[in-house]
Amino acid sequence: MAQAHVLGVPRIGPKRELKFAQEAFWRGEIDEAALRSVASGIRQAYWARQHAAGLDRVTVGDFAFYDQMLNHIALLGCAPARFGFAGKIGLAEYFAMARGNAASHAMEMTKWFDTNYHYLVPEFAPDTRFEPDDAWLLDEVIEARTAGFAPKPVLIGPLTFLWLGKEKVAGFDRLDLLDRLLPAYARLLARLREEGVEWVQLDEPILSLDLPAAWRGAFERAYHALAGTGVKRLLATYFGPLRDNLVTALKLPVDGVHVDAVRGGEIAQVLDWLPATRVLSLGLIDGRNVWKTDFDAVLARYEDLGRRLGERLWLAPSCSLLHVPVSLAGETRLDAEVRSWLAFADEKLAELATLTRAFNQGRGGVAAELDANARALASRRASPRVHDRTVAARLAALSPAHAMRRSPFAERRRVQRARLRLPAFPTTTIGSFPQTLAIRNARARYRSGTLDAAAYEAAMREAIAEAVARQEALGLDVLVHGEAERNDMVEYFGEQLAGYAFSENGWVQSYGSRCVKPPILYGDVSRPQPMTVAWTCYAQSLTARPMKGMLTGPVTMLQWSFVRDDQPRETTALQIALAIREEAADLEAAGIGIIQIDEPAYREGLPLRTADWPAYLEWASRAFRVSASPVGDATQIHTHMCYSEFNDILPAIAAMDADVVTIETSRSDMELLRGFGSFNYPNEIGPGVYDIHSQRVPTAADMTRLLQKAAQVIPPENLWVNPDCGLKTRNWVESEAALANMVAAARVMREAA
Ligand code: GLN
Ligand code: ZN
Repeated sequence: MAQAHVLGVPRIGPKRELKFAQEAFWRGEIDEAALRSVASGIRQAYWARQHAAGLDRVTVGDFAFYDQMLNHIALLGCAPARFGFAGKIGLAEYFAMARGNAASHAMEMTKWFDTNYHYLVPEFAPDTRFEPDDAWLLDEVIEARTAGFAPKPVLIGPLTFLWLGKEKVAGFDRLDLLDRLLPAYARLLARLREEGVEWVQLDEPILSLDLPAAWRGAFERAYHALAGTGVKRLLATYFGPLRDNLVTALKLPVDGVHVDAVRGGEIAQVLDWLPATRVLSLGLIDGRNVWKTDFDAVLARYEDLGRRLGERLWLAPSCSLLHVPVSLAGETRLDAEVRSWLAFADEKLAELATLTRAFNQGRGGVAAELDANARALASRRASPRVHDRTVAARLAALSPAHAMRRSPFAERRRVQRARLRLPAFPTTTIGSFPQTLAIRNARARYRSGTLDAAAYEAAMREAIAEAVARQEALGLDVLVHGEAERNDMVEYFGEQLAGYAFSENGWVQSYGSRCVKPPILYGDVSRPQPMTVAWTCYAQSLTARPMKGMLTGPVTMLQWSFVRDDQPRETTALQIALAIREEAADLEAAGIGIIQIDEPAYREGLPLRTADWPAYLEWASRAFRVSASPVGDATQIHTHMCYSEFNDILPAIAAMDADVVTIETSRSDMELLRGFGSFNYPNEIGPGVYDIHSQRVPTAADMTRLLQKAAQVIPPENLWVNPDCGLKTRNWVESEAALANMVAAARVMREAA
């Protein structure tokens, strides 16, 4: 009999209870006991669900008050010394690491693999010690047992934990800490055994990455050190195929291995190497996306495995369900047909129960469920909502010329300079201006129906006029309308495109108490009508200076949504590109001379394995060019990316062929521009001269110094002057002060030239 389990579940609660409790606790409105009781309620409810779904064991340790890596920092007792904690880490210390306190800045945060979840980065130094405090896990194990469930604790494995951390001291290798870390893990496993735990899940998702030989080699040593504790170990891998790590993973002395059958698909090789006594946990329900599982396909492919492996087969979602929304139950406004194609975490748990019964008792016992599933999938495959013949035809008609500007950059530049007549070191901003309370209120009231369309339009026009007047007064050269009408740069466009749906309550944790509600891209994408032209033209009508139109690029639209699994990502990106392309053409036709197509997610779309990068960069840059290339030479295309690791993808950024690229550089003190310089980046660049995340108003001298530094590596005639990113989270007082200084810095540069 196959067993079923999950690697982890969402922790935010069906109505984001955890978020609201955390924030109330931080504001001092509720005490620790109240926060803990909300957390316990969330855990208990999910254990009960797992139990009701027929799972033999419930997963424990997947809950976190802020982040799972931070849990391990507390559990393993390796808080950075700079916080100066003496003794145990309680909730106050835990939140201090996550959010900073008066004495110490917060720990750095970064993306968890290729998801939109962010974890806190452990800080390692040669003197890092591990002083485990097992209460951070054991309390929950006991809580589950007391409630009558059989707990299967989950830990992030020792190598993934080390890999995801950072050395805070030069000339030291965090892998050297492994020998100190392993006894801490071994002790923890032994304690779990004492508590009667039978199985522990050890997550090692780094096995789906390119690993240096030393790290791959360390697995063997690490798992031998954890072998003698008496507790059974399930090594969990996910997020991609194992490839060159496959043999390593399958030869480790563990009792079972979980593989991601959705993204991995190396089941034949896995079976070849799987030792005869070992459990295979098959992740066959997509933990990264929102679609119903195709039961027929799964059964056809793996039913036989059930017979072969018997109780050595476990069934599971591919990875933790943390990355999908909690439940469809609250979705009342979703189109009924689209809704029938979806499965969020709760529904995936139900799918797991059905599949397990089908494996164990044959299809007959769940005939009704299988039938309903087959009907939903058939409707999705055939629905005219998904398949639009005109979109397919447009895609088929794409020629290489669609992905190319008419002339090379040098020629375009000549025409653009003649048309725009900008000074040297032209100044601009990245798009958004402060989203004032008045703006947010107007948008919210319009959405809820308490503000009519005419009044809303008037409010937005007022915000635009104000932004234009302020920019003129500041003396900026290229203006923007300020994006007052946009709540979110992806949602704004998604809502106006065919093929997108929006959930009411489809929240997913991004970091800490912050949740995002990604749009659901379910069908062929097209643009029924212009999306930004009216606002942009209104803004342009208020000024003689060039007004920059502002669009979100195809890769970012793709990256920040749940997207179709029934066609390649590349195809979806090209469909979006065609819609953006129409918008760019319309903006140009309406007289807009500069169009910025933002691609902040261009880099995060990179696959986990470098071998897969070229193919991605090829289609991603093509999609961008398709969106940007309907315009004539005299129209200037900008793009913007707000992050700072470019050097490894510079050729691909050059391949986008934007006339101007604006990037984030101020926090790295222009260091990263070096790469652009030595690569001889051919087009124009606006290296951000101030960090918009900080409240600090930089002086003109600060920014002049950065510009001078930039001018040493980039030809000065290619330089633009702008902040790191949009200003929507800042207020006007800070923004005006900083921008006034920025304009002054540009003038200094011009005079010196
Ligand atoms: N144009 C957007 C803004 O200014 C860009 C945001 C981003 O880079 N994430 O807000
Ligand atoms: Zn940005």
